[in-house]
Amino acid sequence: MSRIFNFSAGPATLPESVLKQVQSELLDWRGAGMGVMEMSHRDKEFMSIASQCEADLREVLAVPANYKVLFMQGGATAQFGIVPQNLLRGKTSADFVLTGDWGKKAAKEITKFGKANIAASAEAEKFNHIPDRAGWKLDPNAAYVHITTNETIHGVQFREVPEVGAVPLVADASSDIACRPLDVSKFGLIYAGAQKNIGPAGLTLVIVRDDLIGQTLPGTFGIHDYKAVADNESMLNTPSTFSWYVCGLVFQWLKAEGGLSAVGARNERKAKALYDYIDSQDFYKNPVKKEDRSIMNVPFTLANAETNDAEFLKGAKAAGLNGLKGHRAVGGMRASIYNAMPEAGVAALIDYMKEFVRTRG
Ligand code: PMP
Repeated sequence: MSRIFNFSAGPATLPESVLKQVQSELLDWRGAGMGVMEMSHRDKEFMSIASQCEADLREVLAVPANYKVLFMQGGATAQFGIVPQNLLRGKTSADFVLTGDWGKKAAKEITKFGKANIAASAEAEKFNHIPDRAGWKLDPNAAYVHITTNETIHGVQFREVPEVGAVPLVADASSDIACRPLDVSKFGLIYAGAQKNIGPAGLTLVIVRDDLIGQTLPGTFGIHDYKAVADNESMLNTPSTFSWYVCGLVFQWLKAEGGLSAVGARNERKAKALYDYIDSQDFYKNPVKKEDRSIMNVPFTLANAETNDAEFLKGAKAAGLNGLKGHRAVGGMRASIYNAMPEAGVAALIDYMKEFVRTRG
C-alpha cells in the first residue's frame, strides 16, 4: 500500500489510524457479526455509536448544554435553505457578510423565503480579505447574521468570532469546523458538511441554540425542521449511518491527539510553514491579506501560469502530492491542509515547490 498526501478540498484526507480502524471493523463491528453499514439505525449497536459520537463531539467542541447537535443530510448547500426556513422566525431578512463564493450562495438561497441584506462584502477586491467589522451595515431587525468562517475557495478565514450584538450569529463552518478551539456560545447556529475536516461525505452537522428552534416557516418539510429532527434524535428517517460512525472515530482521534488546542497548534504550524515559504520568494503568490489567511485552505498562483501550472500538477502527482489544482473560480493551486494532513505532508509539498522553482522557475 502506498498512500499519497491528498490536498483535496473535500472530500478530503482522513486520519490513517481512523481508516485502519474502519478497515478492521468493516465486516464485524466489535462482535456484532456485521459491519456498521449493514446495521439498522434502530439497533442498539448503532444507537450506541450515534450517542457516543454526539458525546465526543460535545466534548471536543465544548458544546454548551443549551445547544442541540443535529446529524442531517443534504450538505451545507441544503442548509443554505434550511437555515432561513427555521431561523427567520417571523422576520423578513437576514444579514450576510460575504467573504467568498460560498457565502454568496447562501445569500442567494435565502431569497426564496426572505431578503438578504449584504452587510459587507469583499467581492470588489476578489474576496482577498474580511471586511473591517467597523464598516458592517448590520440591521438590528435582522433574523440573524450569516458568515462563512472559512471560505474554502478563496482561503479567507475569520480569526476571531465577530461581535454582532443581540442578533444570532450563524456560521457556515464547513471547511474549518474543529480546526482549533471555538467559543460555540457566541453563535446561534453553526453548520458544516462533514467531508472536509471530520469525516466522509453524507453527514451535515448542525449545532443550534435551543431557543432558536421550533418556529419554522409554513411549508417546511418535517425532515428540515430542526425541532422535529432534535425531538427524534436525528432519526426521523434513516440517517447517514456510516458517515456518522466514521465522524465518531474522528472525534475520538481528535481527543487522543490532545483535543482542539493541540490540533489547532499543529494546524497553525502547518499553515505558517507554507505561508512563510510562499512569502519568502517571488515565484508563488497568495493574494489574501495576512491576518485573514486560512489555516485550512491555502490558494497560491505560479509565475507564468500558462506554462507552469500543468507541469506543476503533473510533477506533484508523480511526487505523491494530489488534489492541488485550485478551484475553477480562481485558478492556480490550492493546498487544503485540514486536521488530518500531517506536518510531513506540508513539508513534502514545500520541498516539491522549492524543487520546482529550482528546475523551472
Ligand atoms: N460551504 C463551504 C464553506 C464549502 O466549502 C462547501 C463545499 N466545498 C459548501 C458550503 C458546500 O457543501 P456541500 O457540498 O456539503 O453542500
